[in-house]
Amino acid sequence: MVQSNVEQIQMVDLKNQYLKIKPSIDAAIQECIDSTTFIKGPQVGYFEKQLSQYLNVKHVISCANGTDALQLAMMALGLEPGDEVIVPAFTYVATAEVIALLGLKPVMIDVDAQTFTISRELVEAAITNKTKLVVPVHLFGQCADMEGIKQLCKAHKIAIVEDTAQAIGATYTFSQGSIISAGTIGDLGTTSFFPSKNLGCFGDGGAVYTNSDVLAQKVNMIGNHGQIRKYQHELIGINSRLDTIQAAILIEKLKHLDHYVQARRQVADMYDQAFYHNSALEIPFRNPQSTHVFHQYTLKVPVAERDTLKTHLALKGIPSMVYYPIPLHQQKAYQNIGRVVGDLNVTLDLCNRVLSLPMHTELSTSQVEYIADTVNDYFS
Ligand SMILES: *Cc1c(COP(=O)(O)O)cnc(C)c1O
Repeated sequence: MVQSNVEQIQMVDLKNQYLKIKPSIDAAIQECIDSTTFIKGPQVGYFEKQLSQYLNVKHVISCANGTDALQLAMMALGLEPGDEVIVPAFTYVATAEVIALLGLKPVMIDVDAQTFTISRELVEAAITNKTKLVVPVHLFGQCADMEGIKQLCKAHKIAIVEDTAQAIGATYTFSQGSIISAGTIGDLGTTSFFPSKNLGCFGDGGAVYTNSDVLAQKVNMIGNHGQIRKYQHELIGINSRLDTIQAAILIEKLKHLDHYVQARRQVADMYDQAFYHNSALEIPFRNPQSTHVFHQYTLKVPVAERDTLKTHLALKGIPSMVYYPIPLHQQKAYQNIGRVVGDLNVTLDLCNRVLSLPMHTELSTSQVEYIADTVNDYFS
């Protein structure tokens, strides 16, 4: 099989996504330059309002990136050094980084083998009287067990910050029927507008969500040097703002987010169909309580085959990625920090088995077919 008529396949294709909306993006950027209000221009507040309506949450506070969003959320909660924060060991490092920087203690737990996210049972086993916060990560675009975790945290008076960097636009359905946006279920939610995220800007960007007026005011102040009004500093803060140009770009791209999610789901459905009968592979689990926005399409591959499959794909012009090859608790920087609960066998297994295929809004049907055929051919 040859790739002749298939355009170069990429993990993420930002160029073609941009070209489709180029006139509106270019005009939005030019407007910022013409007005020269590069910081705190009116587009920033407007974008926050649009996103809060989209998510149905009271407050969206934008900031410089998704890592800062986590820091702002944790600082707003007023945690004390030594307080324990429960995080999955199978995640991107940013989640734990901020915990460590604030002098808090990361407590690293295993994830569920099907959903790759934390569950009530896994959190419950890690709670001590020092536990003050749980940070569920909605990994790859699907929500963690928020109903169970929320009940548990309520009973133990533990706060929740949802790391929604990979799951903007996902919704979670509670058993009594209410449908709530990822990131607006806990006390605070955080997201990232890093270019390759599902809603990406043209640089760094992030946001914190909350329904609490008190927490929103704190996040606002902390992200702006702790000032309550100009030159009056009530809290020790940081400088973390979303540039006006990035907000202007995000205003335009938010209009297309539903369509972007739909395009990702279509690719995922095609992959699912193609791999359904391949007994060597496990396709992504679809949690009936959560929609999936497919930030990544991640297969579970037999341990002995994962790296050879990756090489086989590369030889056929198909990129693939391992998210994540090393769990948090085995990272050099995190070896002597915090606490590990249990053997983390699922996390360790996933690190050896996961493989993410190209997933973005611009994949053509023929590209997806070529990728799927090439994967299946490897096993035949
Ligand atoms: C991308 C990401 C972050 C960090 O976002 P940045 O904008 O890159 O700082 C945090 N958590 C998760 C799970 C991520 O995927």
